[in-house]
Amino acid sequence: MTHDQAMAVLATVSDPEIPVLSIVDLGIVERLACAPDLIEVWLVPTFAGCPALELIRRSVSAALQEAGAPQVQVTFLTAPVWTTDRITPRGLAALASFGIAAPGEQVAACPYCQSTQTRRESAFGPTLCRQVFYCDGCQQPFERMKLMTLAPRPR
Ligand SMILES: [Zn+2]
Repeated sequence: MTHDQAMAVLATVSDPEIPVLSIVDLGIVERLACAPDLIEVWLVPTFAGCPALELIRRSVSAALQEAGAPQVQVTFLTAPVWTTDRITPRGLAALASFGIAAPGEQVAACPYCQSTQTRRESAFGPTLCRQVFYCDGCQQPFERMKLMTLAPRPR
């Protein structure tokens, strides 16, 4: 299996919490090494303690093996640190289509009607990674992915 083929397989593995988003578009695939007998994948975990990590590890192994990889080794790196700006433009579009606004520090724009008349309902969404907002424009709740940057920011 070539590097490109393996990468294409990884692009079919989706984030368990956001099925429309592939792990490639999420920006967690840091490195990939393809030897004839072993494919090694290095991933950067998104949010610390994200319970989906083990699931991602298994999905990656299963997808690669299904595509013919003899042996797969998946390693989670502690550095670099994943930040939300690693999400690709395609990933951001996928998030919006899933009703999740792009991470940001400013006013959250509603992914449904683009209104900026929105307010945060609660600090924590269904997962640690997301926040719940309410749109006054179309009267719908929506979620926004929490911003993760390298520099800690004042709350
Ligand atoms: Zn709206």
